[in-house]
Amino acid sequence: MTATTGNTIETLLRQAVPQLCLLASGSNPGLREPLDALRQIALSDKVGTGLQAALEKVTQSAKNASAPGKKPHGQTQAAIDTAEGRLIRDVLKHLVVPPALEPLTADLERALGTPADEAGRRRLAEQLVHVVVEARGHTERRQAELQDFLKQTVGRLLQLETALNEASALTREGGAQALEASQVTEAQFLKLRTASTDLDDVDQLKDFIGDHLDHLQEHLSQQDNAGASRQRRLEQHLSQLSEQVAHLNSETVTLRSRLDVTTEEALRDPLTGAFNRLAYDRRAALEVARWASDGSALSMIVCDIDHFKRINDTFGHAAGDKVLKEVVRLLQEQLRSSDFVARYGGEEFVVLLNGANGDAALHIAEKLRRTIKAAPFRSRGERVAVTISCGVSTFSGDDTLETVFERTDAALYAAKTSGRDRCMQAECKVA
Ligand code: GH3
Ligand code: MG
Ligand code: MG
Repeated sequence: MTATTGNTIETLLRQAVPQLCLLASGSNPGLREPLDALRQIALSDKVGTGLQAALEKVTQSAKNASAPGKKPHGQTQAAIDTAEGRLIRDVLKHLVVPPALEPLTADLERALGTPADEAGRRRLAEQLVHVVVEARGHTERRQAELQDFLKQTVGRLLQLETALNEASALTREGGAQALEASQVTEAQFLKLRTASTDLDDVDQLKDFIGDHLDHLQEHLSQQDNAGASRQRRLEQHLSQLSEQVAHLNSETVTLRSRLDVTTEEALRDPLTGAFNRLAYDRRAALEVARWASDGSALSMIVCDIDHFKRINDTFGHAAGDKVLKEVVRLLQEQLRSSDFVARYGGEEFVVLLNGANGDAALHIAEKLRRTIKAAPFRSRGERVAVTISCGVSTFSGDDTLETVFERTDAALYAAKTSGRDRCMQAECKVA
């Protein structure tokens, strides 16, 4: 019901009630007093609950008047005055009559058109009062319903606001899909605002708001579901990815350590633990490149155990192995960490001396030879005499690894042929 309708009813009631009071007052003296009171209230500005109470009083008085033993003040049967009848019809037309009272209202309207005696007029007045009271009650209930509805609407709007805030966060994260959803939501709200000012009828407005809020909530819940499912997929994906990464990491670590071990093994001689020929090739290439680029000294020693075959033959192959290991240990012990020693083959070793010129290299070779000669090798309680012969050479000029190695090996051969247990220096090329 709109405010305009309410005001119209009130105006009509204010006009109708005094007329009805005048109409009914002649029928029974007992009604005069309550009708007077009712008329005063209707004419005053304070209609409110006073009107309802006064109407109830009139109804009660009318009931008392029609009770058995109380004779009506006999009047002649007459039709209700046409102007009053029209007025009452007007009142009825503007009343918001609850469905349950519609038959009674119809009766009332019919009765208005037919002549009535005093008792009939009284019944008519009672019926009218009853309809007015009920209509008022109905209006109050409808107002209460509307208030409830508005409260619920406010509650739902608050929920929607929360959901919208979450949805806008999702929009930022969720991309185009969520953005579109948010635009639909905004459009719904715009419609709601327009409708609330355009629609006059409360029922229409109520239905409209209800429908749109349902639509909005459904929409937002779909949006939530889509966001949640996207989030779940992302989380699953991320979790799979991180598992894969963790797996890869551990595989990489394992593989790297295996590779390190394999590489290390590949570069070492299993018997003595010294670097092998492959390691020598790699390191020598690096050293030669460094020498070629910065010109700092680089020398080579090739040493070979003298008459090693004899040691094997005399003390056995295992004793020979022990001698090989001990020679390696002693050579490594005498060399600096920047130097490099490798088992080149059999009982032959090659040493790269980083930063050593010819004199220094020869000096070191002598030191190695003396150390081996002085070491107390023993087998089966017997002393085993072990000596080495060395060839020494220094990089110079347009030397390559091969030329230097050949020259050093030739110096070793010279040391062997000139009696063993000695170091021979190859003649350096003139730079
Ligand atoms: P030279 O003084 O002229 O160098 O004589 P040599 O006997 O040392 O040289 P030769 O080349 O005649 O003999 C080398 C021996 O070294 C032959 C081989 O059996 C032995 N040999 C090579 N590798 C090993 C090894 O790993 N362990 C043992 N026990 N013997 C080895
Ligand atoms: Mg030898
Ligand atoms: Mg040899």
